Amino acid sequence: MTDGTHPSELSAPTDRMSLSAQIKARTGEVRGVGSRTSKSPCYETDGLEIRVDGFTGIERLENHQVRVGAGCTLNELLNVLGRHGLALPTIGEWDGQTVGGAIATGTHGGSYKYGSLISSVVDAVLVDGNGRRRTFKRGWKNFQHVLPCFGTLGVFTEFVLQCEPSFELHLKRRVFGIDTFLERLLQPDQSTEFRSAIWMPAADFVLDYSASRPDSPLHGVRRKREVRFNDTAMVLDWLTKQTAWVKSQVSRTDELDSVGRAYTQRLFPARDYCGPYDAMLAPLKGDAATILAKRAKNKTPPEGEFAVSYAAAKPFLDALMTDMKSLNAFPDRPIGLRPGAAEFGTLSAAQGEPCIWVSMFLYPNNPLMERLPNRLIEFSARPHWGKCVFHRRDEIASLYPGWTDFSAFRNTLDRDRKFVNHFALSLGL
Ligand SMILES: Cc1cc2nc3c(=O)[nH]c(=O)nc-3n(C[C@H](O)[C@H](O)[C@H](O)COP(=O)(O)OP(=O)(O)OC[C@H]3O[C@@H](n4cnc5c(N)ncnc54)[C@H](O)[C@@H]3O)c2cc1C
Repeated sequence: MTDGTHPSELSAPTDRMSLSAQIKARTGEVRGVGSRTSKSPCYETDGLEIRVDGFTGIERLENHQVRVGAGCTLNELLNVLGRHGLALPTIGEWDGQTVGGAIATGTHGGSYKYGSLISSVVDAVLVDGNGRRRTFKRGWKNFQHVLPCFGTLGVFTEFVLQCEPSFELHLKRRVFGIDTFLERLLQPDQSTEFRSAIWMPAADFVLDYSASRPDSPLHGVRRKREVRFNDTAMVLDWLTKQTAWVKSQVSRTDELDSVGRAYTQRLFPARDYCGPYDAMLAPLKGDAATILAKRAKNKTPPEGEFAVSYAAAKPFLDALMTDMKSLNAFPDRPIGLRPGAAEFGTLSAAQGEPCIWVSMFLYPNNPLMERLPNRLIEFSARPHWGKCVFHRRDEIASLYPGWTDFSAFRNTLDRDRKFVNHFALSLGL
């Protein structure tokens, strides 16, 4: 097996029969892929790469449900839903992924009420290693093993999703010190349904976006918001890190810290926005090709994201701060913070209890990488399957009580291990 980055064959079947025939006939590795934008190598294969671009239908069903092809992009789906006055209850910040890829990895937003997109899945349909079509319905035996599975069980062709009537959001941009922010993150007021924030540890401030459903739409406020990791924040993060390094060579004074905070307040005054939920929650635009080109051009540092329990969130962030101070090092971008509701998937990061998603951008030579793998295990932080995995791979299974059950279930669907790529193998599957 190679490092799995170069498929030996590509296929883009347009109907279920030919997809089944191809998988059945294949003796080596097979992998269903979406837009191939994941930051972990979960989609990589050196075998047959199956693109599901041909499975893009969207059909409206009863009870605000829709049947959607796995190859449809979130953007296409949200547009069609919008035309029917429907919405997904929660979405990530970008809508260029495929529905299949987003669901297979547990793509999430920052909702207190819902978990990842998986929480909207009513039925999932896949073709297994024998070429058999299998339907898994919420509430049926084994449904909990099916999502997320990052392509290790078969190739998804379609899903039935539970939607709801479309809604508007009132989004508030505010700046807080980390302690005040953490209180709000962990004990939100009743009306706050969504939250996503970035923490700039060197400047000691958090840029917080929280959203609630207004009783009636607000007028006179912006209907378009900036992205969370925006250019101003990036420059400020970089500058304050330089200052912090200089300060650490001289002496750290409270006066200098408060100057940083004052600038932050000026650059990010309190601001309110109101608009359709998708514009408020998914401001990051661009199709997969554009995003991949931008990623390559900007040499974006690898991003990992991990879910920690509410109880572990503050101690985990305190430990990160201790490491930053003692190593005199910071992550290579601001730290992302979002809440997520509990989920029950065997390989869900937020299984059994609500979580805080912590995302970190780190180049491999960042000194924090020396300690992070230990911290992740110490605080039982589970990875997002579509983002870089900063854990030691052989320790990951220990974070999932149902790992062995998942593995056994996987083997029943894929006895010949066609869907075990290099990434899955490195995790012990
Ligand atoms: C700019 C950007 C912003 C992002 N923002 C967020 C965010 O806000 N929240 C968040 O949680 N994540 C976010 N992500 C991560 C992203 O949502 C996931 O990595 C997602 O899986 C990418 O979808 P994709 O279509 O590119 O899937 P791919 O990368 O192609 O595949 C992902 C995995 O799913 C499997 N897979 C894909 N399609 C199928 C199928 N039909 N059948 C079986 N297996 C399949 C693949 O084998 C692979 O293991 C972001 C990524 C980018 C690039």
